Amino acid sequence: MSVSKQYLNIHDHSRELSGLKYIYSVISRRAGGLSIGVNLNVNNACNWQCIYCEIPNLTRGSPPPIELDVLEDELRFFLHEIIHGDYMEKNVAIDDRHLKDIAFSGNGEPTSAEEFPKIILIVKKVLQEFNLLHKIKIRLITNGSLIHKESVLAGIQTLAKIGGEVWFKIDAALEENTKIINQVNLKPKHVVDRLKLCGEICPTYVQTCIFTLDNKEPNDKEIDAYIKLIDNAKKNIKGVHLYGIARPSLQPEGHRLGRADINVLKNIADQLHNNGIESTVSY
Ligand code: SF4
Repeated sequence: MSVSKQYLNIHDHSRELSGLKYIYSVISRRAGGLSIGVNLNVNNACNWQCIYCEIPNLTRGSPPPIELDVLEDELRFFLHEIIHGDYMEKNVAIDDRHLKDIAFSGNGEPTSAEEFPKIILIVKKVLQEFNLLHKIKIRLITNGSLIHKESVLAGIQTLAKIGGEVWFKIDAALEENTKIINQVNLKPKHVVDRLKLCGEICPTYVQTCIFTLDNKEPNDKEIDAYIKLIDNAKKNIKGVHLYGIARPSLQPEGHRLGRADINVLKNIADQLHNNGIESTVSY
């Protein structure tokens, strides 16, 4: 296996840089350093089709069976390169040379992999080998749509035990907006139920992408509904991460999207704060 000589930066989230099947690395705005990514959806298939999605050739579906032994070997190899090898020196600018997290953040919804609970156990085992358990975060970036499944809950329970956390995508609170943005039919009540369930078993943050669509920013009605939805689950969540679009959408609707004014994000953050909900803004 070989590693890239190219420096990583926050604008390039190419999954190919590490040359591996399931494991990649990025410099993450979110994590503030080097993040090891676990991509289970190697076929670029997701059960959602968000209009801002950066995945090339995105299709609907779930991943093919995961080769668990390959994933385990790759994670071990990559951690070895980072910790004992010269991966950081060769690929990462000096200020970013901190291993921040392992993030399940691939080319589709990670919990749609049937092997998801087993994979969390593999991550635990490999981190133990490197004496890194509880020293780096393990983050599950999810659209939350499968949280109610018994196997997914089991995986998230293990994640909680090893100091992990969930980032739960909610981009809109009105059903008609979810249909446009995420291209799924989703009742707000079901979103809140799943969010609460998730927050009860594992530290959970909401993550929300804010952008303009056809040059229009989110309006007051949409923002009010969003604030209300988050408020309904506020006892069960740790906070909210609001972020603007940093990289171009690779979906057919991409040309309709633009960056919202930072004040839109700040205004939402202020309203959340007034309701006692911590939030961060990445722009
Ligand atoms: S849930 Fe994530 S991977 Fe799936 S379409 Fe939306 S942005 Fe893309």
